[in-house]
Order: sequence, then C-alpha cells, then structure tokens
Amino acid sequence: MDMDTTSTRAHDDIRTAPRALATEAVHAGRDDLARQGLHAPPIDLSTTYPSYDSRGEAARIDAFATTGAEPDGPPVYGRLGNPTVARFETALARLEGTEAAVAFASGMAALSAVLLVRGSMGLRHVVAVRPLYGCSDHLLTAGLLGSEVTWTDPAGVADALRPDTGLVLVESPANPTLAEVDLRAVAHACGSVPLLVDNTFATPVLQRPAEHGARLILHSATKYLGGHGDVLAGVVACDEEFAGRLRQVRFATGGVLHPLAGYLLLRGLSTLPVRVRAASATAAELVRRLAADPRVARVHYPRIGGAMVAFEVYGDPHEVIGAVRLITPAVSLGSVDTLIQHPASISHRIVDADDRRGAGVSDRLLRMSVGLEDVEDLWSDLDAALGRRPERARGCADVRLRRVGASNHEAPALAD
Ligand SMILES: *Cc1c(COP(=O)(O)O)cnc(C)c1O
Repeated sequence: MDMDTTSTRAHDDIRTAPRALATEAVHAGRDDLARQGLHAPPIDLSTTYPSYDSRGEAARIDAFATTGAEPDGPPVYGRLGNPTVARFETALARLEGTEAAVAFASGMAALSAVLLVRGSMGLRHVVAVRPLYGCSDHLLTAGLLGSEVTWTDPAGVADALRPDTGLVLVESPANPTLAEVDLRAVAHACGSVPLLVDNTFATPVLQRPAEHGARLILHSATKYLGGHGDVLAGVVACDEEFAGRLRQVRFATGGVLHPLAGYLLLRGLSTLPVRVRAASATAAELVRRLAADPRVARVHYPRIGGAMVAFEVYGDPHEVIGAVRLITPAVSLGSVDTLIQHPASISHRIVDADDRRGAGVSDRLLRMSVGLEDVEDLWSDLDAALGRRPERARGCADVRLRRVGASNHEAPALAD
C-alpha cells in the first residue's frame, strides 16, 4: 500500500530519499518542523478538537469507523489520535521499515489490542514460542481476552496452526533467556497467519523483523525506545491495513498513549542508535568477564548482540541482588542505568514454575540490562556483588580469561 495516499499527517508530507537509521532516528516524525519555524516538536495536550462543521465531523467519524485511517485534519477527540503521538508513530514505523505504527499506553495494552483485533475476526487461537515476557505468557495462558494458546518450539509452528489461528507470537532475543528464533524460518512456517515479533530487546537498531517476514512488530516502548525509565508505552509497527484495525480497537477500548509520553518517546528515539550501540559494547565486555568467572555457571548472550545479558550463578542469586550498589536492583530494562533482576522472583513470577523452568528460565538466572555507565565501574560492582571466589577455581579462571583474549582491564579486576 502506498503510504502517500493513506497518510494524512502533515509531517509525512515530505517524502525523502531512503535515509540511514541514524538519520531517521533524529529526523523522522519531525520533517515538517523547520517549515513551521519550530525546532522541538510541539506537545498537543488537547482532549477534544473544536469544529463548527458537525456534518463534516460525522463524515470523518464514519470514515474512521470504516477504515481506521487517521482522520483528515484534527482528530475529533483524543481517543481517535493525537498529533504528538502520531509523530512518534511515524518515526517508529520508519525505523522498523513498516507502513505504519500504532502506539498504546503500555506494551501489554499493545499486545491486548492485537489479540482483540484477531479475536474479533473469529481467530482466537494463538501459537506462541516460550519463553515470552512473563505477563505476555500470563495473558495468553490465562486466556484473559478469550484467546486460546498452543505453546510450541519454533520447529513446531507449522504443525500447531489451525483454521482459527489468528496469530503466531515469538520474542527474539527472548525475555529473559535471550534465546533467539530464526525469524525468516518461522515467518515461512506461518504461511498466511500473521507473525508477531516482540522486538523489545533487539530494537530496530539490531534487527528489523519486517525484513524477515514479520507482519507485526511489537515493542514495550517502556524499555529501549523511551530509554530513560520514565515513560510506560507500547507500540505495534505493521502495514496500514492492520494499523487501521488497531486504531479502531484503541478507540473502542481506550488504551491510548498520553501526548507527553509520545513526546518523550520521540525524544528517546533520537538517541536510540547511539544508546544501543554503546550499551551493547559494554555488555559484550561484561559477557567476556562473566564467562571467564568461576562464580558464574552459565552466561546467555544473543548472537545479534545487544545490551541484555543473562547469567546463572553457582551461589544464591538473591544475594547478588541484595549486594549491588551502583547497579539498580529493579525489574524493567533499556534505561540509561544498568538494572538487574531475578526473573523467577519478579518478571516471570506470574508464570507457573514448571512452565518457567521448562522454558529455560532457571531459578539461578539473573537478567541484567546494561546501561551507559563506565564498564570498569560496572564490573567492580558486579565483582563485589558476586561474592567470594571459590578458592580452588581461582587459578583456572585466570588461565581461561587470558585465553579468551582479555583486555588490559581484566587482570586487575581478577587479582583481588
Ligand atoms: C516489558 C515487556 C513487555 C510489556 O511491556 P509494558 O510496557 O511493561 O506493558 C512486553 N514484552 C517484552 C519483551 C517486555 O520486556
């Protein structure tokens, strides 16, 4: 579908040549500003939009009820749309390489809207691959929105499809184990059933699922897109047809994003590539050190990289959480500061313990979201929080570290 004919947004008017991700991150959704004599995007806090032409308003409401396309001109009422939020949606769609994006009050509101769209079409069955974020797992398992789920591994997706399957759902890298799914293979297995990829962990900086055949890309924008731990939001990037249905569900169920949150997200996007790349470099270095550490049983780190690290300790994971001082002991991720949490206690607590363990979420697993602090300061904190080194293994650890090509900083960190 041609974006020019479906989009009515002023800031979409300027169609430019293809631009690199770093350029889109700071310009998409803002292309009209200079012509308006503005630099920072305006925040439109209106809940309603006056009009002396009620016949015209009736026609615009009818058009929205038919197509879900953004109304021409002002949005009539705040639940139909908001110009500041629309800027964020435009920008995210450009970064993900989709026609459109629809923002919601949280990641869970975004997933709920997708399930409601498909359920309302009589397609209540969902095929999903574990692990998923704990609350996404819960929403499907409990059938809170009338859906029915079949859990499978990526190879079993094709066989799990039924005539009433409305959605296939995967996360890659997955929360919290960082397991990766071959998106192209799964998209192929889906046939005509839409594949939803939760791209919260990778962000479009590291992975653009639409290029691999995903029809729906979901973000908890609370995480990397916002990037500063101060805004709850969700967004679905997709084609204009599905976006129309999502806008209609958003209008009817009310999970809208506040305009101030839209502003903060647009601002967050402008530094997304820089933040993700810097935090990923630090994460890769911490992974090297953790992998060589005798107190750590196993380190999980995805092939595509990123700023999320998971590791299993030999000791008590609760002790590590209680002992960090610089690193923030908190759930959530994707902020400028480093966060650590124990999935079995917090983010995945709501998942049945057997299902959780079956999905590879060990009770000893810790999940860390690496931020923008200095790597040496982070390592000192982690090193102290991990506690005493086992006496007998110390010599071995030194040897293993050197063999994996330790940087100059590693020897002092070990010689405690
Ligand atoms: C946090 C998270 C969600 C839920 O998002 P909220 O913004 O907290 O509602 C969904 N998926 C993943 C992968 C997450 O990490």
